[in-house]
Amino acid sequence: MKKRSKLGVLLILLAVCLVFAGCGGKKEKDGGTLEAIKARGKVIAGVKYDTKLFGLKDPATGKIEGFDIDIAKALAKKIFGDESKVELKEVTSKTRIPLLQNGDIDLIIATMTITEERKEQVDFSDVYFKAGQSLLVKKGSPIQGLEDIKKGVKVLTAKGSTSAKNIREKAPDATVLEFENYQDAFTALKAGQGDALTTDNAILLGMQKQDPNYIVVGGNFTDEPYGIAIKKGDSEFVQVVNDLLKEMKESGEYDKLYEQWMGVKPE
Ligand code: GLU
Repeated sequence: MKKRSKLGVLLILLAVCLVFAGCGGKKEKDGGTLEAIKARGKVIAGVKYDTKLFGLKDPATGKIEGFDIDIAKALAKKIFGDESKVELKEVTSKTRIPLLQNGDIDLIIATMTITEERKEQVDFSDVYFKAGQSLLVKKGSPIQGLEDIKKGVKVLTAKGSTSAKNIREKAPDATVLEFENYQDAFTALKAGQGDALTTDNAILLGMQKQDPNYIVVGGNFTDEPYGIAIKKGDSEFVQVVNDLLKEMKESGEYDKLYEQWMGVKPE
């Protein structure tokens, strides 16, 4: 009997080892992101579909356009010599990290702030855009800055964003309502479901362009340096993306795209 239970324990241990070995083996076989991209023949980039200036899908034409989109195309050009070798997949602030971790996308180029917390889950490229959190209100609103976001004020933003986290810290008495994406939040603002919308100034400027009855107020109250997110541990692919950003800056392409989308020269 004793012998038998020992054997049982051994068998269980063996099974556990095999399971672990199986997982480990798969990881090694996975290889790097660059290898996977080359084998597949295209880059799969996670981008926003609802964010004017960075990644916006035109429902009439189906075209997806913006600063982040042009960086994705430049990456395809670097790898394949052909900017059309890229598939754009929609992400939201909430879905982008899980989609990267699942292997559904190769990288995230989607208005994503580099934070210490996120660095525990993904790796980031160098900073490619400097934003800061601000507020969007209807013209004539009594809210003119963060100091007006008090108890009883409803602030709208998107789930999974630094914007939601920051506003809770900066205006702890306000009511924060979180939406699946920024267009839903903007629609809610227009429908009078809130007093202000908060996220990065550059995203808010895109909304102000979409509807000039709304205006960005109060200046920035955080720093939001954007990075391109890559699967954790893939330093080879981080290098490829950093090289791309460097080359784009040196060739003047970065400045050209920045000015094209933002309407001003980069600082
Ligand atoms: N940059 C901020 C963030 O990464 C806000 C924009 C967004 O949600 O994508 O959370």
